[in-house]
Formats: sequence, C-alpha cells, structure tokens
Amino acid sequence: MIDTTPGGPDTRRRMSIMDKLVALCAHRGFIYPSSEIYGGLNGFWDYGPLGCELRTNLKQAWWQRMVREREDVVGLDSSIIANPQTWIASGHVANFNDPMVDCRECKRRFRADQIAGEVCTEHKKRPLSECPLTEPRAFNLMLQTQIGASEDHSTLAYLRPETCQSIFLDFRRVMQSSRQSPPFGIAQIGKAFRNEITPRNFIFRSREFEQMEMQFFVPPDAAMEWFEHFREYRFGWLRDVGLRSESLRWHEHSDDELAHYAKVAYDIEFQFPFGWQELEGIHHRSDHDLRSHSEHSGKDLSYTDPESKERYTPFVVETSIGVDRCMLALLCDAYREEEVRGDTRTVLGLAASIAPIKAAVLPISKKLAEPAKKLATDLRRRFNTDFDVTGAIGKRYRRQDEIGTPYCVTYDFESETDKQVTIRERDSMEQVRLPLDSVATYLTERVLGF
Ligand code: ATP
Repeated sequence: MIDTTPGGPDTRRRMSIMDKLVALCAHRGFIYPSSEIYGGLNGFWDYGPLGCELRTNLKQAWWQRMVREREDVVGLDSSIIANPQTWIASGHVANFNDPMVDCRECKRRFRADQIAGEVCTEHKKRPLSECPLTEPRAFNLMLQTQIGASEDHSTLAYLRPETCQSIFLDFRRVMQSSRQSPPFGIAQIGKAFRNEITPRNFIFRSREFEQMEMQFFVPPDAAMEWFEHFREYRFGWLRDVGLRSESLRWHEHSDDELAHYAKVAYDIEFQFPFGWQELEGIHHRSDHDLRSHSEHSGKDLSYTDPESKERYTPFVVETSIGVDRCMLALLCDAYREEEVRGDTRTVLGLAASIAPIKAAVLPISKKLAEPAKKLATDLRRRFNTDFDVTGAIGKRYRRQDEIGTPYCVTYDFESETDKQVTIRERDSMEQVRLPLDSVATYLTERVLGF
C-alpha cells in the first residue's frame, strides 16, 4: 500500500519525482508555463516541440481507436463558442459551480472541498482546516467573453467548459448526414475552458485544456450493455497507450457524487504522485441531454425506429478524458531513474507508438555526418526521426533515453564498408547490427502501433 497522505514519507519521495518531471519537461521542451517572460499565467501552459508531438500522437491514438476502427462512431469538430442558450439548457449557467471559501487571515481563495493539506500563509503554516474561513459560496466556473462591438448583456458568451454539448446540438445533423442510427456515437477532440479556483499539480488541473469525448446514442433498454462495453474498451485503450494496470483503478460514483440525471458513472483513476485522481469518466447520462436541448430549443431530437416504429429519445453513454491529464499520467508512469554502471540514467519509458521521436540517428564521428544524415532523411518520411552529431555517444544515448526515444541508430566507420548499422533499444539497451536497407522496415514495424 502506498502512503499518499499529505506530507507522508511516500508522498515526499513521489513529489520529488514530480519536481524532477516538471524540470525535465521545461528543460527538454515538453511543457512550459504560458507567457513565461511576463511571469506566466496561473492555469495556462504551452507545449513545446516534444510536448506537441506527444499530444498529437496521443490524440491520434484516441481518434484511431474511437473513430477510425469503428463503423459506428463518427467525428465532429465544433466551435468553441456556441449560442449562450446552450449553457442555460445544459444547466451550466445555473449549476456549474464549485464551492469557494476565502481564508480570513491570508485572503487566499480555495475550493471548499479541497482544503485538506492546505495551509494559511499568514499564520506559520497553520492547516487551513483550523483557520477562520468564510462560508462556502457558489462560484461559476465558466469563462465569459463578449461577442461583437457593443458591450451590453446580449453580447455575453461563454467559452465551452466541455466539448460534449455541441455533440448533442448537432446530433440530428450528424445522424442524418452520416446515415447513422442508434446505436452510434459522435466523437470530438477540442479545447475546453474552466475558471478553476485552484489550478494545480502542473497540467493536471488547468484553466485551458483539451478533452477527448465520445457520446454514444442508444435505445434506452440497450444503455447498460453499451455502458459495460465502453468501460472495458476505454480501460483497454489506456493500457495500450502504455499505462500500467497497477497505476489504474475504478471508482464508482456513490449516490451523492452522481449527477442528478446520471444512472451510473465510473471514473478511471490514476495514481498520480499527489494521489489517486480521476483520469477519465465513463457515464450513463440517460436521455437527459437530448431531452433538455429539445425542450429549450423546441426542436425534436427524438428518433423513430423505421422497423418497430418505436419513437424514443436516445440514451447517452459518454466517455470523457482530458488530453493534458492523460499526458501527465503517461509522463508520470513512464519516468524512471536507473543505476547503470555507477551512473544514473533517466528514462521516459513511453510506448513507442506515442513517443515524440521514434528513432535518433547518431553518427559515431562528425566525419560520418553526411551518410548518416541521408539515413535520417529516409526514415523521416515514415516517422519522426532525430539526428544528433554532438557529444560522446553515451551522452547522446542518455539524451534520447530522457525524452523517451525508443531506438537509436548508430552509424560507424564500418557502416561505410559493411553497409550495416547498430540499433540500440531504449529499455533493454540491447544492440543489434542490421543491414542499412532493412532499418526502415525494422523500425516501422516496432514504432507505429496505432
Ligand atoms: P474534477 O472533479 O477533477 O474537477 P470533473 O469531474 O469536473 O473533474 P469532467 O467534467 O468529468 O471532470 O471532465 C472530464 C475529463 O476532463 C476529466 O476526467 C479530466 O480528464 C478532464 N478535465 C476536467 N477538468 C480539467 C481541468 N481543469 N484541467 C485538465 N483536465 C480536466
């Protein structure tokens, strides 16, 4: 059992891993604070060259499994800002609130349900739970903006706090244009915004983030069966992108956690260095969403089965995961430090299919740069390939280990005559010698999983 009580020895050890990971991400170009030269902006992050490669691969792996491999799911890319009526109908204007408290001493603001482990900065780090706090007040998490030139109330709009509402709004259009009928799903990847009271834990909880959501529309009596199907399907995907099963667990929502419309809901939780936390939600949302949008818009969003002539409002099974949160889970699970011959090597053991760089071509000497570069150019046509000619070969291997590159290809003086190169695998550090003309096929088979 791992002790994750705040301040416990295990938390301290794991938090130091978190600090190292944050430093690695900044140093190697995965993730930086947004607008850093102006002091940053709390809850906003930028993804550097390696970070955006990893994100792209992750999103592509999700799209592949959720849309392309299925004949019953189609995609959507809707606008971030929708008619504000959307958020009245969805209940977000009235209910998308977190309880907020202020510390009367240090004046800082907290989520009332997240004060465990927090301290008052005015009073020698006194736990917040022993501190005078204001009564909890509801704080709406939607970010607002204005549309158009005038600034009266009619121009108020919201940045979407979740991607799924447009899927409900476009349900009829998508169903008809793609010639689908229940059971079928609509998937979307896109930005979402929440004015979180306390963004924290690196990219775990931010104010701008990206979601990958899928809403599956089914006849009411088939909903539980589809719910179970997607529970298994999503867990399988998380394993396939490289998360270890011992880092994942199920959490079933208790009656007081369940949204009023939800019949049953499970979270898949991940063991982050700061404790077990929600990574993905799989929810049985009944017919709440379509029914509510139908009532507010006056448009019929029901479906009539052409054979049985039965008319019903489809039930929805939803799967929802944050790109950023999933990326953090992957980085935490992959990060390790190993002792190798009296030296410490840092490895990001990412699955080859999502690693930002698949292979690095390393000429043993600058004199071999030209033919090695030719090989790198050839490999680049198939997958993302790095080329590095500077420093001792051991150092270059370490650099690639640290960013999760699964294969290094070493071009040496013998390569000129025997037309072979050495391929080193990241985790085992084993090396094989292969003919130059088989390298591309050898690597492609191993790095393109999705
Ligand atoms: P929490 O209870 O942590 O605030 P939630 O239950 O409100 O989250 P959902 O509305 O179910 O979250 O959102 C679905 C998914 O979107 C979450 O499982 C998470 O992966 C991601 N997500 C939600 N809020 C954020 C955020 N502020 N930053 C990053 N990812 C988020």
